[in-house]
Amino acid sequence: MSKLRFKVVEEAYNRKATPVEIPIERPDQYYGKYVFNRQKMAQYLPKDIYEALVNAIDNKEPLSRHVADSVAEGMKRWAIDNGARHYSHWFHPLTDGTAEKHDAFIDLDGNGGVVEEFSGKLLVQQEPDASSFPNGGIRNTFEARGYSVWDVSSPAFILGKTLCIPTIFISYTGESLDYKAPLLRAINSIDKAATGVAQYFDPSVKHVTSYLGWEQEYFLVDESLYSARPDLVLTGRTLMGHESAKNQQLEDHYFGAIPSRVEAFMLDLEIECHKLGIPAKTRHNEVAPNQFELAPIFEETNLANDHNLLLMSLIAEVARRHKFRVLLHEKPFAGVNGSGKHNNWSLGTDKGVLLFAPGRTPMGNLQFITFVVNVMAAVHRHNGLLKASIMSATNSHRLGANEAPPAIISIFLGTQLSGILAQLEQSTKDELINLAGKEGLSLGMSQIPEILVDNTDRNRTSPFAFTGNRFEFRAVGSSANCASAMIALNAAVAEQLFDFKEKVDARISNGETLNHAILEEIKILISESKSIHFDGNGYSEEWKIEAAKRGLDCEINVAKIFDAYLEDKSIEMFRKTGVFSKVELEARNEVKWEMYTKKVQIEARVLGDLAINHIVPVAMRYQAFLVDNVLKLRKLFSGEKGEDITNRDIVAIESIASHIAKTKDEVAEMIEARKKANRIENEREKAIAYHDTVVPSMAKIRDYLDALELMVDNEMWPLPKYRELLFIR
Ligand code: ADP
Ligand code: MG
Repeated sequence: MSKLRFKVVEEAYNRKATPVEIPIERPDQYYGKYVFNRQKMAQYLPKDIYEALVNAIDNKEPLSRHVADSVAEGMKRWAIDNGARHYSHWFHPLTDGTAEKHDAFIDLDGNGGVVEEFSGKLLVQQEPDASSFPNGGIRNTFEARGYSVWDVSSPAFILGKTLCIPTIFISYTGESLDYKAPLLRAINSIDKAATGVAQYFDPSVKHVTSYLGWEQEYFLVDESLYSARPDLVLTGRTLMGHESAKNQQLEDHYFGAIPSRVEAFMLDLEIECHKLGIPAKTRHNEVAPNQFELAPIFEETNLANDHNLLLMSLIAEVARRHKFRVLLHEKPFAGVNGSGKHNNWSLGTDKGVLLFAPGRTPMGNLQFITFVVNVMAAVHRHNGLLKASIMSATNSHRLGANEAPPAIISIFLGTQLSGILAQLEQSTKDELINLAGKEGLSLGMSQIPEILVDNTDRNRTSPFAFTGNRFEFRAVGSSANCASAMIALNAAVAEQLFDFKEKVDARISNGETLNHAILEEIKILISESKSIHFDGNGYSEEWKIEAAKRGLDCEINVAKIFDAYLEDKSIEMFRKTGVFSKVELEARNEVKWEMYTKKVQIEARVLGDLAINHIVPVAMRYQAFLVDNVLKLRKLFSGEKGEDITNRDIVAIESIASHIAKTKDEVAEMIEARKKANRIENEREKAIAYHDTVVPSMAKIRDYLDALELMVDNEMWPLPKYRELLFIR
């Protein structure tokens, strides 16, 4: 009998909510308490230094050494006042997550004691021993050093007792080894490109900002149950487990009442978020049991992304306090929905205009249409690349499955906008369309006020949907660094806007009016990029066939999807926008392939262990019990009667025996497939081999184990079952 399983299930079911320490102050009092924001800067820095720093942030001006020294001194005082002992350059290497190396503020004072010190030099630049971060060969080819350099645009914060300074991470020769450096470059590029186009409509525009509002989905599992599942501990997902009789079919979890243990956890998490300046706002149950979501108010993309990464560390820590483990994996459980991280993305001018929001004037609407159509053109041109930007070993379980955005990128525009574009494409006059941003809808019930409807309908099956004043890139994975998607999207749209401006300018120099030039170019773009527009059901089989006919990227092999980064048009786009050099792209793809292989390899090893050392022995014990039972019954009842009584057990014994045999054979095959793949030197080929041979083998093993789960005595089964993992009491 499996004592461990029953013990952990009992522990989990008896667990009460952990009380939360709620600050007595209101949120406005503690919001940003641990962030070196402008208010703290003003308080801790001399006035001239404060002004120089703000100028550097707002106008992207370089900082002098003198200013940096003074900022470091002020930052240190603030950090120490708030209990910090250490400082750390905080960066985003090409792994999932963040990296930090802590140093104490102390320095020897020469008299046998120490002083707490922090200089501008240490604030601005450090040289972490980074040879063990993924680099795709860059660091072997060139000088093996790496630098982390202060990102002035994202505020420092205190996590635990450590002052964290957001930094980019680059090689000695300037290649990026992280997500932040290229993200900043992409943001710069779209600022330039979009400003150029926005100035057609308002010449006073100086900057365009890229905004990101992410929605983080996650699962919670009780810590006792979690610790009894080696697959969850080592890979973040269950590699086996038969579906629970009840999962999400009653649709009773989405927006359902939040269990009290979970609500306490959420409140605790939100308070921590607010102290760190993460504007957490929305929380709700998601579709699958034990699945939840947190969404903040949207922010400038670089800051929003830092906040998402910070949240991913924070959520794990707070979950532990509540005796939960958080699963950020895209597909922790088969048979129920996986987790994504919708990236709501928009552009806004420094004059406060959101460029994807319908305007109030005909010119405002032309601007809106201009930007929407350019996004459409960019997504059309780079649909394969955008898919590559969200692809990973973990997200591959979610995409293409019948619950999440398909492995084909298309744009959903909604009836109204689709109609307008169709009309525009056909129109022969330079007419501007009058579209009210929101229309009132009277419900005909006098006690209910008139409501405003978004002029966009909802389509949950689209990977990239227009939602009123923004686009929602839904294909991003829950464990991903959003920067990957944001780099590709901002850069692709920047390239398109540069191109658009060049063409419109050329028409104007040929004597066309501005309106005419813009409308003509828009018409061309609408007609050229039509095939990316799809408002139907993205999960349907017909769409897969239709998309292939339209020439959209339909590749489903993860390892081959990454090839999109190295297509000529991608290399050219990243070069033009200054986001990546070819060397960087090649190196990063090496890392992607390597990561893919390693993740599958780890999962395959864990599954082999579960099969051979956890499940097969138990199945054999149960089989022996059945055999013993049959032999005894036959002794008791001889002849036909004995056979009659035992023949169902014989069938069960045969079935168990055959599943055990098939499991053993397939595990041997899987190990052989790995050995063969491991001999391949080329990272791309190796990843393809893992995808084509190891992954299918794992699926077969899982099938056998899940079938055994239904045959073997429940009391003997060693691992917590889905029905136990998935329902928090
Ligand atoms: P839903 O799940 O219905 O799409 P949510 O309220 O869960 O909506 O999430 C919406 C997200 O979109 C929030 O993070 C919000 O801050 C963000 N958002 C809203 N407007 C914009 C915008 N203009 N640009 C970027 N993000 C936005
Ligand atoms: Mg959403």
